Amino acid sequence: MSTWTPEAQRLWEQLPAETQHLILTHVWCPHCGQARRMALIGGTIIVDDLVLTGLCTVCGHRVARLLEGDGLRPSQDAEPAFQPGEEVIWLKRVPGGPYVIPMTATVIARTAKRVKIVADDEGQMVTRYVPSESLERRA
Ligand SMILES: [Zn+2]
Repeated sequence: MSTWTPEAQRLWEQLPAETQHLILTHVWCPHCGQARRMALIGGTIIVDDLVLTGLCTVCGHRVARLLEGDGLRPSQDAEPAFQPGEEVIWLKRVPGGPYVIPMTATVIARTAKRVKIVADDEGQMVTRYVPSESLERRA
């Protein structure tokens, strides 16, 4: 039983195999609490975004991965994008001022425009969608 819509399938199949592999091996599983490999079941287009659905290959929990419409076209970025699982420094903006606080964070997902991170904010783990410009690689 296929749960693909024809348009979603067409978009997915035009991606290079390498990209497909990278996407499927870095899907956030809320049950495992970490990035896992997804057994792909199907996909659908929601507005302009491709939403892939499947199962975590470790625990069997339903997982999904959203690919923004913009991200379906090859990126021109010279620098490799942040990958899920990567430890980064998040430059948190202080409201009302030109200051930033560097904080340790872990990338858990990535879309074309935003990077989803989990950070330790004064002892509390917080999840944020931040622009990649606000992240730095750890030396
Ligand atoms: Zn899992």
